[in-house]
Amino acid sequence: MSISAPHLASQASPHPTSLSRPFWDGCRDHKLLFQRCSHCHRSNFDPAPVCPWCRTNTLEWEESSGTGSIYSWSVVWQAPTPAFVVPYVAIIAKLLEDFYMVSDLVHADPSELRMDLPIVVKFEDFDDFTLPYFQPSATIGSPKE
Ligand SMILES: [Zn+2]
Repeated sequence: MSISAPHLASQASPHPTSLSRPFWDGCRDHKLLFQRCSHCHRSNFDPAPVCPWCRTNTLEWEESSGTGSIYSWSVVWQAPTPAFVVPYVAIIAKLLEDFYMVSDLVHADPSELRMDLPIVVKFEDFDDFTLPYFQPSATIGSPKE
């Protein structure tokens, strides 16, 4: 079995805040953005006004390569709300820029899941927003896509 389509229905859309709007605007442009501190140079994924590591207000938006690996995953077989279509694979992605983010894996066979599976971001456009999913790097250009 291959999970090939995003599971999210339109009623579960994101609600950007003034802090998170740059991230969502980046998604719309198919760019995965994160914050990096210009003082301590560490990465931060959850948009924040101050660096969670050194507490300075020197966070700046930066574009990620969109590549990384699976840090952890779970195949979800029971929908938490009607907005979700099961099964889907919830993952914690570890990006090359040294930050983690929760997302879903698409274009994947759950039987092939493993720690450190190389993945790449795959943006999916909905009517009013764009979401960043991930897919195995090996499936790019394959018939699964
Ligand atoms: Zn810092």
